[in-house]
Parts: sequence; C-alpha cells; structure tokens
Amino acid sequence: MNAEIIAVGSELLLGQIANTNAQFLSQQLAMLGINVYFHTVVGDNAGRLEQAVKTAQTRANLIIFTGGLGPTKDDLTKETIARLLGRRLVIDEEALRAIEVYFARTNRPMTENNKKQALVLEGSTVLKNEHGMAPGMALVADGITYMLLPGPPKEMRPMFKKYGNAFLRRTFSLSERIESRVLRFFGIGESALETAIADLIDAQSNPTIAPLAGDGEVTLRLTAKHQDEAEAKRLLDEVESAILARVGRHCYGYNDETLFTKTLERLKERGWTIASAESLTGGLFLEQLTALPGASQVVQGGVVCYTNGVKEQVLGIPRPLLEAEGAVSEPCARLLAENVRAMCDADIGISFTGVAGPDPLEGHPPGTVYIGIAVRGRDATVHRLMLSGTRDAIRIRTAKYGCFFCLRCSRPTADRPPPSLNILHRTSFFPPHEYGDCC
Ligand code: ATP
Ligand code: MG
Repeated sequence: MNAEIIAVGSELLLGQIANTNAQFLSQQLAMLGINVYFHTVVGDNAGRLEQAVKTAQTRANLIIFTGGLGPTKDDLTKETIARLLGRRLVIDEEALRAIEVYFARTNRPMTENNKKQALVLEGSTVLKNEHGMAPGMALVADGITYMLLPGPPKEMRPMFKKYGNAFLRRTFSLSERIESRVLRFFGIGESALETAIADLIDAQSNPTIAPLAGDGEVTLRLTAKHQDEAEAKRLLDEVESAILARVGRHCYGYNDETLFTKTLERLKERGWTIASAESLTGGLFLEQLTALPGASQVVQGGVVCYTNGVKEQVLGIPRPLLEAEGAVSEPCARLLAENVRAMCDADIGISFTGVAGPDPLEGHPPGTVYIGIAVRGRDATVHRLMLSGTRDAIRIRTAKYGCFFCLRCSRPTADRPPPSLNILHRTSFFPPHEYGDCC
C-alpha cells in the first residue's frame, strides 16, 4: 500500500503558505503504517491538476487531496476528479442542511455558489466537516482509493482524525497498531549517536529506529507494529532500554518535550529556583523559560549584562578581572553565576558569556562560550563550549546547553541546596508613571 498526497493551491506554489497539510497527513499515514512515496503540489488549474492525478494513478493506490473544495471558481478539485473518473457530482442533503443552518444562524444570505460546497462525488463516503462547510469525501475506483479533504488545516485535521482515518482502517483492513515514541538527545552529535547504536540500527526491523538531527539536537523515532497495543509498547520499551544503556546520559526527554519544558519541570519538582546573567544570549534563556506556564514558581529573575559596564556595576565583576581575564573567560562566567544567584536569592545562578559572532571578540573566535552554574552551597562550575553555526544558532544552542547543565546539576539524586541566608533590602522605591491604553 502506498500513498501520494496532492495539495492543490496556487498560494502554495507562490510560497505564500507552507504545505503543512502534507506534513500532517504524512505523520498520520505513518501511524497507520501506510507508506507515503510522493508529495505533489499543484496550482488551482484544472489541466495541471488532471495531469498530476494521472501521474499519481500510475504510482499510488491511495491518493489524498487537500484544498479546492470551497465555493469559488478556483476551487475545482472535485470537479476535476469527477470528470477523470466519469462520475457525477450530487448534492449531499446532510451537508446542504448544515450549510443552510450555518447561514441562518449567522444571519447571512446564502448565495448559489455556496450550494456547490454540498456537492460530492456520486457513490463516495461523505466525511463530515464539523469545523467548516465543505464536506470531504472518499471512494474506491479501479483499485485506487481517493480521499478529498478541505484546505484549511483547522477543518482538514479534525476531519481526517475522526472520519478519514476510520475510512482507511476499514478500506485497508488495518488492524495492526502502530506505536511510536521519540527519544530526544542533546550534547551528542548525530554521527556519534549513530555510531554508538550502529548495531541496533542495522538489526532493526520492528521496532524501526529513525534518527533525525536539527537545531543542535538529535532525535530517534522508534516505531513498533503489532496487533496488540501492549505488545507494541513492550517492543518499544525493549529497544529504548538498549539505546539508553549506551547513550542515556544524553537523553533528556520524549516526544514533544523540549529542554526548556524539561528544565522547568525538573526545577519545579525539586522546588528549586533559578536566576540568570546573560551576556551573549541577551535574555534568550529566561525568555524561553518564562514563555512556559508555571515559570513563576521557578524563575527568580536575571540581568542582561551585555556590556562590561553592566557586568561590573550591576553584577559586581571587578574591573581588574575583566581587564586581566576578559569578559569571555572562565573566572568571569563563574563570578557572574555566583553573583546573580546571590543577588536574586535563587538556588541556581546561571551565566552565559561568549562570542555569538560573526566577528571575534577579545581574540576568541565566534562560538567560544562559557556557561557558569552556581548552586547554593556548592562550588560553582564553568563549562567551556566551542560551538559552530550562525549567530542565531550559537545563541539558541547556548541557551539549550544552559538547560542541559541545569538538568545535570539538579538530578533527583543531587542534594538540595541549603536554605537561603540572603536577605535583600529594598532601598528605594519609585512610583510608576500612569498611562491609559492608547491602542
Ligand atoms: P475554502 O472553503 O476555505 O476555500 P478549500 O478547501 O477550497 O477551502 P483552499 O481554497 O485550497 O481550500 O485553501 C483555503 C486555505 O486553506 C488556504 O488559503 C490556506 O490558508 C489553507 N491551506 C490550503 N492548502 C493548504 C496546505 N496544503 N497546507 C496548509 N494550509 C493550506
Ligand atoms: Mg477555496
């Protein structure tokens, strides 16, 4: 069984939108165990769409279309397929009633072309649209299954999950469960990870192991097939254990977890707080953490200490140290972490100082980064990194390394820091200026 996804829409070809429908459908079909061999994008043009369908008919036995089911002249997917398959388009009464109800409820006049949306291919199974007007449809003709879905993702996704998926399971008698799990790694390159588990990858069949690298991280997608869901999960557990026995120290999470969500979760679990002094990251680390709900239980605050003046005057780094060692140095990173921790009365102080590039700084090449970690009651540690990539890549990877080191120092087995002895006194208070809302 192999599938082709045909996305219809000139806006895709013009680069105005990305083909996220194909991405979503490919993921869904993979979970059903259906191979997707081709993604095709074609504009709102009947001739070229016809050509694309004819090509797909030679190489796929499942063709899924998205887009072009709307009421306007450029929406011509079902008309084109009807012509090619020699089928009539007929009104689906239920869809027509739903459209009439929609117009009555919103008190808008229904125009003739809106009725067009209730037309479906004769003999097809209608897929209800619970988030819009145009229904989807599916049918089998001459051994090929055709499925037509609307373009807007907020209509197409729920329609496929609820009705399209069930149609494919029925049509292709899919009884096997496909379970998949993504293991997320950091601090190890793709080739090092693959080398460490090369024999497991070579021997894979069920589950399969698929590595993917991006944004300084590597993931392994494990996919198991079995009639029985519990057995599929057991197969995944088994291969996961074998992988983690070798590279487990670099694995930080599963599926959609990120280094930032894991860091926040861990610190919350442990009841630890954090403060940061950020030079090259300019606040990126705290921005990512504070974007997450629940950050207030963990984040105390921080300082963007971009210049030496701020490092000296706000965070108390002695000028002789900055002059002798430089801002991009181990002692500076250590002291920044210790001082921001103490100033903000946090359990962890973290500092980021380095060269994001593109130009060198203080004689250091771009990518030279020091991250200081000061845990209350312990000696601070400093990590030196040599990162590659663009300015943006270096900054985001630095922030991610910050998370990685936070996760290491707050492992469940690590001692809790002793209670705070820092007491901060507010010495001045300026009343706020009052502004009305001008937007
Ligand atoms: P409508 O009734 O809204 O006209 P339709 O089924 O005719 O729906 P299109 O007109 O092709 O679909 O697309 C409508 C909108 O859906 C597009 O403007 C775009 O925002 C989104 N869309 C269409 N195709 C895709 C795609 N392949 N990936 C992501 N979004 C898409
Ligand atoms: Mg349309």
